[in-house]
Amino acid sequence: MGIQRIGIIGCGLMGSGIAQCAAEAGLSVWVKEADDTLLAKGLGRIHAAWDRAVAKGKATEAQTQGWRQNLQGTLAFADLATCDLLVEAIPERLDLKLQTFTELDRVASPTAILCTNTSSLAVAQLSPVLAPHRLPRLAGLHFFNPVPAMPLVEVIRTLATSEDTLGELRTFVEKLGKTAVMAPDAPGFIVNRLLVPYLLDAMRCAEQKLATVEDIDTGMKLGCGHPMGPLHLSDFIGLDTMQCVAEVLFDAFGEPRFKAPSLLRQLVAAGRLGRKTGSGFYRWDGEKRQEALPL
Ligand code: NAD
Repeated sequence: MGIQRIGIIGCGLMGSGIAQCAAEAGLSVWVKEADDTLLAKGLGRIHAAWDRAVAKGKATEAQTQGWRQNLQGTLAFADLATCDLLVEAIPERLDLKLQTFTELDRVASPTAILCTNTSSLAVAQLSPVLAPHRLPRLAGLHFFNPVPAMPLVEVIRTLATSEDTLGELRTFVEKLGKTAVMAPDAPGFIVNRLLVPYLLDAMRCAEQKLATVEDIDTGMKLGCGHPMGPLHLSDFIGLDTMQCVAEVLFDAFGEPRFKAPSLLRQLVAAGRLGRKTGSGFYRWDGEKRQEALPL
């Protein structure tokens, strides 16, 4: 039968995207949030995406009605007891994730696969709060932002993850119409280990006035065929997130290329976190990038 029922813990940016894709793939989806307001906000984001799809002619009313029926919200971990796959997508804090996995250990079916969408923590750090029989069913499932648009998922194996679990996760990812790559449980996995030093280097170039913010971005966009330049992408990811991920990678590898530049720290300290706060390397008008701001 494979994975038919999926539970997602956290319906923020990533959790709502994962829930949307899973419901569209015909799976039965439960999302669990921390309170009623956050649950309504998370579900509202998904329903609004489906409304937009109908308005743009990308989906029919009948299709979205089916998707809406596949999606249910809850505040209770107990409602996740019958799920085949549980994906945690709560904030990037080990203490919170350990609390969540303690609850999942209590309620999840003995055969359920337990996954985290962490971008920077080691998946195996969650093992201590799980019963030993669960460890072969523990893995990472690292989606990319925005989930509905990004076709890659990194499947992370710990030393205890079983081949069966990896196979079931690959099939699940394919069912969502995405491509899985297998990555070890090492900081940054594949993509962030390669991407983050590049983004930090672009910030160092801006800091050293090698070129303007716009010219650095245009150079990499038109010269290398990237869909967006590195400073634009950093604003999109969030500069606070960039700083956290850089710190985790620098702690792990100790290499200067992973060190957060002082320009990044200054922007974060000034509350210029990128798109989400309306300013970073650029000024933002909602989703729309405007002019570069003085550094
Ligand atoms: P977010 O802050 O947008 O969403 C997190 C949600 O979890 C919030 O809605 C919060 O209310 C909810 N939550 C907190 N505690 C909860 C609990 N006990 N039960 C249920 N819900 C709870 O964060 P996000 O950007 O979606 O990130 C989630 C995870 O995904 C993080 O581990 C992050 O590192 C990872 N990730 C993020 C990105 C990205 O670009 N944002 C990309 C890949 C992976």
